[in-house]
Amino acid sequence: MKYLYLVGACGSIGRQTLDIVRKSKDEFKVIGMSVGSNLELSFALIEEFKPEVVCFRKKVDAKLSYNPIIVYGDEGLDYLASYSKYENETFVNALVGISGLRPTVCAIKARKEICLANKETLVVAGDIIKDLVKEYNVPLIPIDSEHSAILQCLTGEKKNEVKRLIITASGGSFRNRTRDELIGVTKEEALAHPNWKMGAKITIDSATMMNKGFEVIEAHYLFDMPYEKIDTVLHRQSIVHSMVEFNDGTIKAEIGTSDMHTPISYALRYPSHNLSESENLNLFGLNLTFEELSMDRYPCLRYAYLAAKKGSIYLAVLNAANEAAVALFLHDKIEFLDIEKIIYNEISKDKYKNIEYNLSNVINLSKDIMNDIYNTYGGLE
Ligand code: NDP
Ligand code: MG
Repeated sequence: MKYLYLVGACGSIGRQTLDIVRKSKDEFKVIGMSVGSNLELSFALIEEFKPEVVCFRKKVDAKLSYNPIIVYGDEGLDYLASYSKYENETFVNALVGISGLRPTVCAIKARKEICLANKETLVVAGDIIKDLVKEYNVPLIPIDSEHSAILQCLTGEKKNEVKRLIITASGGSFRNRTRDELIGVTKEEALAHPNWKMGAKITIDSATMMNKGFEVIEAHYLFDMPYEKIDTVLHRQSIVHSMVEFNDGTIKAEIGTSDMHTPISYALRYPSHNLSESENLNLFGLNLTFEELSMDRYPCLRYAYLAAKKGSIYLAVLNAANEAAVALFLHDKIEFLDIEKIIYNEISKDKYKNIEYNLSNVINLSKDIMNDIYNTYGGLE
């Protein structure tokens, strides 16, 4: 039995994780769960899985059929991630944004295995997380489909024989538009992703291509690979989830349907391919295309490499600016093209370079940058 602590249970990844647990109750038991602002869904999931610890976002009058430990907010997430009672514990991080960072740190210190969907954790604090997983000797298993693919392609291979990682990108909701055609696009248009059904923030990140920038950064930390050896390619079908090219010219790819249940299942059962909840891929009639992913068309991808070059603290700056800008766009406060301008403006500032890179500094700096950006554009209300 694996004992799970799932944060972000009401979201896209959270619900798909619970689909897997629901079908394999003899394999997984949910011990801790953090829920979202949709209280009806939250109560339904709590009653169904009956975790020992429940974290709500805010104080609520919870009338439940049993008596779990109930905690709230960011401190509650830390409590849940630190709670430990069983031998075989796994922490599944399906939160969105920098809110995922502190709980990951707590879970590592509690020596839980980490299944990580929350990509902002590695973007903001990749070096810190890498050191912590080493110090506490815990596995860090990616859920993101691209990194799941790379992990599988690297299995049994020698790192010094890897020529490059090739991360595929669907192109997001505006892949058929020129830059001129991005002027005045609406939130609804941006949220209509052609291949994947995901939470709002990552869907906007896919449209700007910041998501791919984040995935390059994640890959750098997860696979200990220099940025010069991480490339991206536009692959509209999202069937090839990513690839690894070796020195002898061999390219290994992991392919399958675009269904996150598969990489979630692989992470939870790592390294087992025994079970999945997704449909099998029909190979007949597949038409797989690969095109250059232009950094002129998608400047956010360039900004990710640029921030990485400026140093780790700039990755926290990159994430904070992006997180604030995307929230403002989702609240109709700015235009779509303002997102990239806000990000570029922030990572161009030299004043951050002297800030010492440590956990409390990256958290506080991120908060300050986000608040400043919100204030500049009239807040989120
Ligand atoms: P969603 O927005 O669907 O879900 C995120 C969940 O986290 C929501 O339930 C949300 O609560 C909760 N949450 C957000 N902030 C906080 C907070 N401060 N405290 C407590 N709970 C919070 O996101 P996704 O599931 O799409 O994505 C989760 C992560 O996984 C992201 O980092 C994303 O980039 C990554 N990812 C997602 C993929 C996907 O297919 N969806 C694919 C690969 C990676 P509320 O319900 O109140 O909003
Ligand atoms: Mg991905």
